[in-house]
Amino acid sequence: MKILTNTSLKAYNTFGINASAKQFIEIQHEDELMHLLKRFYTEEIFVLGGGSNMLLTKDIDKTVFYINILGKKIVEEFENHVIVEAKAGENWHEFVNWTIEKGYGGLENLSLIPGNVGTAPVQNIGAYGVELKDVFVECEAIHRQTTNTRHFSLQDCEFGYRQSVFKSALKNQYIITKVRFKLTTQTHQLNKSYGAIKTVLESKGIERPQPKDISEAVIEIRQSKLPDPKEIGNSGSFFKNPVIESSVFSQLKRQFPNIPSYAVSETLTKVPAGWLIEQTGLKGFRVGDAGVHAKQALVLVNYGNATGKQIQNLAFLVQKKVIEKFGILLEPEVNIF
Ligand SMILES: Cc1cc2nc3c(=O)[nH]c(=O)nc-3n(C[C@H](O)[C@H](O)[C@H](O)COP(=O)(O)OP(=O)(O)OC[C@H]3O[C@@H](n4cnc5c(N)ncnc54)[C@H](O)[C@@H]3O)c2cc1C
Repeated sequence: MKILTNTSLKAYNTFGINASAKQFIEIQHEDELMHLLKRFYTEEIFVLGGGSNMLLTKDIDKTVFYINILGKKIVEEFENHVIVEAKAGENWHEFVNWTIEKGYGGLENLSLIPGNVGTAPVQNIGAYGVELKDVFVECEAIHRQTTNTRHFSLQDCEFGYRQSVFKSALKNQYIITKVRFKLTTQTHQLNKSYGAIKTVLESKGIERPQPKDISEAVIEIRQSKLPDPKEIGNSGSFFKNPVIESSVFSQLKRQFPNIPSYAVSETLTKVPAGWLIEQTGLKGFRVGDAGVHAKQALVLVNYGNATGKQIQNLAFLVQKKVIEKFGILLEPEVNIF
């Protein structure tokens, strides 16, 4: 167990914000976590995974529990599928690669998403037409106060678009320690519906793709579109794509005929937040080291020494401009502390 005091979190958040933590504990085993939760029973704690979905706007005046519990295994093999389990601190992309190298299908569209396995259920990570919930079996989590262990089924997690029970009714109550997935071994149900995936596969002459081919296509697309946090600090999409009443959308469509959309249900329509931001003219806008990325308006970036407050102020400006133009309030996807 590593314990540090007054330590910088700059290397622990992909925005590269130089906030400090009063105390920082790296946790490598579940029993350590249990022990510490009992010890810190009366104190508030701050749970940190890969730090890729958070904006730190101030120093953390709490003890940071840095969850670095590692391990992954095959739990059970069936004729056409397998159950695999990974512990919370496993790096998500390395875990995805591990499953793909074994020839398993299910996680390929979620390649190259930063962060850890234990955090993936928190916002039901999703990309290129697939969400975590599509392959999720269950997760194990420890209650912060009682230290009771609970198993959460798919239903218990109440997954939605970038949403789960861990972000709503049970927010800040549980620490996820391991997650189980159901993956295919032979007859894969590959999701190639996203145009860009099709284009990449066609350009390589791949007619019958395997999960590995889809994964490589997704990696190629992501690397061409999204800034690498190792080069420019960011947290991926800063805002969620707003879901609005279809009747409201129809009115907007009359005013803005080119507005893109995806039908969510008969009454709801999703609008790409990046397009809305682009229309306000803020794409590429920069105040000091805080900026709206020049290639992808949905991503706010730290060009070097921006503070969390400066990024947050930029986010407020984006929200204001989008409301003024479209009457839509963009909700942050990133957790702001
Ligand atoms: C370049 C880039 C691209 C991205 N692309 C995508 C994308 O395509 N799709 C997508 O969905 N997301 C995307 N993200 C967001 C991010 O990668 C995911 O949300 C990821 O799951 C966050 O994991 P993390 O371990 O870094 O979480 P952290 O940032 O460490 O934590 C996020 C939240 O979860 C809590 N938490 C951390 N660990 C645990 C735990 N074990 N138990 C309970 N709560 C915990 C934290 O307290 C915090 O509130 C992207 C981010 C970046 C930087």
